[in-house]
Amino acid sequence: MTVIVHEADASLEPLTDQRVAVVGYGNQGRSWALNLRDSGADVVVCVRADSTREMAEADGFKPRELDAANDADVICLLIPDDVIPTLPLAPKPDALVIVASGYTLAFGRLDPACDAGMVAPRMLGPEVRRCFLEGVGFITAVGVHRDLTGTARARVLAVASAIGGLRQGAIELTPEQEAVLDLGVEQALSPALRQVSESFVRVMLEQGVPIEAIVTELVLSGEVERTYRLVRLEGGAAQMTYHSPTSQYGQLSRAGRYQHLDMVTTMRELVDDIASGRFADEWDAERDAGYPRLEELRGKAMAPEILAFEADLRARLGERAAKDPPRP
Ligand code: NDP
Repeated sequence: MTVIVHEADASLEPLTDQRVAVVGYGNQGRSWALNLRDSGADVVVCVRADSTREMAEADGFKPRELDAANDADVICLLIPDDVIPTLPLAPKPDALVIVASGYTLAFGRLDPACDAGMVAPRMLGPEVRRCFLEGVGFITAVGVHRDLTGTARARVLAVASAIGGLRQGAIELTPEQEAVLDLGVEQALSPALRQVSESFVRVMLEQGVPIEAIVTELVLSGEVERTYRLVRLEGGAAQMTYHSPTSQYGQLSRAGRYQHLDMVTTMRELVDDIASGRFADEWDAERDAGYPRLEELRGKAMAPEILAFEADLRARLGERAAKDPPRP
């Protein structure tokens, strides 16, 4: 049965007398370091001499070099997943290495000869800090990859609790499960949703609806976003009552109209690439080549004309338009 953990199931005690190294001071690293310190942990930030080091100093830490993390009892690796395998990592045998994503452990890119675990917030890095300060929770995936000392789970949960990751609840997953789910959303679900949106735009254009109106309906009005918010807050079935009878009838009577489309075969292929480690091999090769394909793909997806169209539309119909209307 799936195990769900809350603050009451954990204790900060396993971190007593433990030195916690936070490696990296970016999206997650800064929030983790500040939250761990506010929770009473003995935190050392380890970051190369770069812009984020200055930020750590401004926040009152005395940053050290990356290899200083090897002296710590708990090492939180909060740098990009493709960079983690290149670190000069040599932890003590009784140390615990923690990652914020299952990726490196799941695909054998990280295999320290000590305890290893995962505390993966389902929350953007800066929001991990904001939620902590506001006293609200966020969902976390927690898991133990290797337990040599018999203390791995207690220490993983202590770190999760110290960053505020058990307030709402944490789901116990293996790093493999977390990685397949996380990358599955990015690589199998997200492209499918993109295809759905693009098909919808095409059919609406065929009906003579202006592109501005279509994009507004899909994104700028916030209606789709708010509907998903209601699904989260009240449940998919319960939020139905907020839609008009015409809308309810239309949605429900057509609900099965795409069932004949075989989404599953392609989705399985994409997820097989993730689970088998083929994607991890491809991504390593991309990193080693200096990210040429990523640059090419980004160049197309973020082409100047697309950015300009979006900026113009948001200026006219986005949230700022109401606060700062264009002069007549
Ligand atoms: P960031 O990109 O914000 O990490 C930046 C930090 O990593 C900086 O301190 C940077 O130092 C350091 N860094 C980058 N490259 C190198 C390098 N080659 N050598 C040494 N240090 C380097 O990462 P995130 O916080 O986004 O991600 C960290 C982990 O958290 C990942 O495992 C990710 O999967 C996970 N995660 C991230 C989420 C998010 O919202 N972003 C959500 C949930 C999990 P410098 O300033 O010197 O470049």
